[in-house]
Amino acid sequence: MSGEGSDNKPSKLSRIAAIIIGLIMAAGAAYLMYLGIATNNFLYIIMGFLLFSFVTSLLNIGARPVPSLMKPVNTMTVIKCDKCGFSEIREFRRGDYIFKELGKCKDCDGTAYIKSIYTIEEEKGKRL
Ligand SMILES: [Zn+2]
Repeated sequence: MSGEGSDNKPSKLSRIAAIIIGLIMAAGAAYLMYLGIATNNFLYIIMGFLLFSFVTSLLNIGARPVPSLMKPVNTMTVIKCDKCGFSEIREFRRGDYIFKELGKCKDCDGTAYIKSIYTIEEEKGKRL
């Protein structure tokens, strides 16, 4: 046993695998439909048709980029001071990370730090 092949890009590989599986299933679906027509068995035709539509939708999903990646997101940073309880929310800036010290607190001589970072999804760009 060797751990070869882990360097390959999984997204590209899985897409090729999905296409190959899709083609095999499409061939199976076509064969089912052919069988149904040849033997006059309506059930085979329905099964073949269902499998075929399933395969085409599967391939469509694989060919499109993931929609969640295209959603605009707002990243927010929560700043807090433990000494006086000061807390502030501002937009995320490059280099922000949780527990990063930001220097002197605005309200007291304590040290302000980043308490948490979170994202808000925007409902922009609605279609239809
Ligand atoms: Zn403070």
